[in-house]
Amino acid sequence: MPKTYSKSVPSSPVTTAEKPVRKAISTRTRFEIFKRDGFKCLYCGATPPNALLEVEHIIAVANGGSNDRSNLCTACQNCNRGKSDKPLTAIPKPLVEVAQEAIEREAQVVGYAKALKKIKDRIDSDAWTVAKVFMVRFGRDDFRRDFMQSVIQFLKLLPTPTVVAAMEIATSKYTSTEYGCFKYFCGVCWKTIKGAPNERQ
Ligand SMILES: [Zn+2]
Repeated sequence: MPKTYSKSVPSSPVTTAEKPVRKAISTRTRFEIFKRDGFKCLYCGATPPNALLEVEHIIAVANGGSNDRSNLCTACQNCNRGKSDKPLTAIPKPLVEVAQEAIEREAQVVGYAKALKKIKDRIDSDAWTVAKVFMVRFGRDDFRRDFMQSVIQFLKLLPTPTVVAAMEIATSKYTSTEYGCFKYFCGVCWKTIKGAPNERQ
């Protein structure tokens, strides 16, 4: 493009050195932006591995946009390349809001996993309480894995004291064989479940 200047237009005060230059964004900054934006294209929501994410300038460098993080966002390659067609209003949410959502989502995932772990730990602990009644009765120091799975299932359907009571009934009433005793225990549990299907709620 030939450099011609009209006399009616004042020449730009920007010197050559100050002209906006598209500086390379470091890998570290890039990943920080991705992390802040939840590794998701802010335009279409695409995520890896389906999308190749890039960091783009919200206000183009050519239009005076800076390399400041507030001017950077995550975009998939397709959206980034088609950016010239998109007005700035195409950005669905303020970046701060999106970042907060990402933090919230992360916290929720962690929180949800912790809650599930707590329930699992409680059931595991309760299952051993039930198993101990059986183990003491038969003088064992172990408990069959398949029996344990059944106990865990009953603990998901019935209150713990009910399951413990069922094992106490079984170990006092049916002692000829271990297998028979356990079957009896299962029978008591099922009878309770059928009699009071919503008891756990
Ligand atoms: Zn996209």
